[in-house]
Amino acid sequence: MDLLKKYNFVSSDMDFYPFKNNMCSAIGDKSLLIDSEGNICKCWDDIGVNENFLGNVQTHTSASALAIDQKYREWSPFLYEDCNKCDIIPICMGGCPFQALKVGNPQCCKWKYILDDYLQNIILNYMKNRQISKYFKD
Ligand code: SF4
Ligand code: SF4
Repeated sequence: MDLLKKYNFVSSDMDFYPFKNNMCSAIGDKSLLIDSEGNICKCWDDIGVNENFLGNVQTHTSASALAIDQKYREWSPFLYEDCNKCDIIPICMGGCPFQALKVGNPQCCKWKYILDDYLQNIILNYMKNRQISKYFKD
């Protein structure tokens, strides 16, 4: 983000307060993905992985459809001690369930590491744009 700013590129990350802004189709009750061959799955990362298909729009459901759906339905960041103790859980919500299930632990989002710097940048940009920085000391 610093480099983008330095070279006058606009970063879409620069001007909003971080929040859980991407919804996960895998844990969404009413979300399904259908690939170009009609295969149905819950997660974008399950596309191309035959054993993770819930079925096909032409050949109906697979025998393991319920178990695959349940795997995602039952996943929650509150299952993990680290997430329960984490002060940014409202922003991160345990990250990507696919990754957490794959490696056995939630994969922390970037906000855990850059939130302070990020918020400082937002404030500095705000002050610069409003030309009120002269009222503030470094
Ligand atoms: S499990 Fe991860 S990759 Fe899959 S839909 Fe949810 S956020 Fe995206
Ligand atoms: S940052 Fe890490 S510990 Fe905190 S909620 Fe996200 S995944 Fe869990």
